[in-house]
Amino acid sequence: MSRHLSRHIAVVTGGSRGIGRAVVERVSADGARVATCGRGDRPAYLPDDVVWIRADVAKPEDADRLVAQATEQLGPVSLLVNNAGVLVAKTVAESTDDDWDLQVGVNCRGVFNMSRAVLPGMTGHGGVIVNIGSISGVVADLSSALYNASKAFVHALTRSIAIDHGPQVRCNAVLPGWVETDMADEGFDLAGDPAAARRDAIVRHPAGRMGRPTDIANIVAWLAGDEAAWATGQCFTVDGGLTAASPLRPGSF
Ligand code: NDP
Repeated sequence: MSRHLSRHIAVVTGGSRGIGRAVVERVSADGARVATCGRGDRPAYLPDDVVWIRADVAKPEDADRLVAQATEQLGPVSLLVNNAGVLVAKTVAESTDDDWDLQVGVNCRGVFNMSRAVLPGMTGHGGVIVNIGSISGVVADLSSALYNASKAFVHALTRSIAIDHGPQVRCNAVLPGWVETDMADEGFDLAGDPAAARRDAIVRHPAGRMGRPTDIANIVAWLAGDEAAWATGQCFTVDGGLTAASPLRPGSF
């Protein structure tokens, strides 16, 4: 690994597992000093030099406290990775007011809260925000209505941050396809036969496999670094080619 992120003090939300964990490990290995958060206790995997702050990004006061503590312990935050997210797997008709509050609270308001908390301090030292969106914000997953819409919000907010806060801050989104994490398992569990659904999904990936958390951490690390100096306001899909193909095949129509 290079140390190309050694100028960065990073906050990665949702670093207890899955994609967030891979991002914490990768940006740390690339030289950044890192603080991360989740709603639970400090995860066992975290090395001592990574700061853990229990926080719920859906709450503005938690977001402000997270950034203040990270700044106090590490210095001014120059890299924010908005990774924390939840999946409410329901249609519009099935979704309750509590579902709305959870889904929109974490995935939309959480990204807003965290971005608002870091942006004033980023001006003047090359700030970078990387938001984790989803292909689900572009092509709809079945029975995930609020989740799909929440990710479209993230993509739109990404563009607004880039145009309103450039050139001091660059902001991009990474749009993962299906990545092997607890959240993906929840999605497959909705199928009548989860193992068959997983096999069917793999066949649809030109890359021949589902994603690994490190596949997403790799592009986050690139976007965070100065090699990506001219990349801002964009959504970068990393999905093993899943959304490149037409769903219609010869013989199927
Ligand atoms: P996981 O469910 O495995 O991990 C989610 C992480 O977010 C956990 O660390 C969780 O910790 C944290 N988190 C959730 N809610 C909050 C909150 N309110 N405040 C702080 N932390 C929170 O998910 P993935 O790793 O799969 O997903 C990470 C991101 O990638 C999400 O934004 C997701 O939407 C996106 N994504 C995932 C895909 C996939 O196939 N896995 C595909 C496309 C996008 P805790 O619960 O302890 O708070």
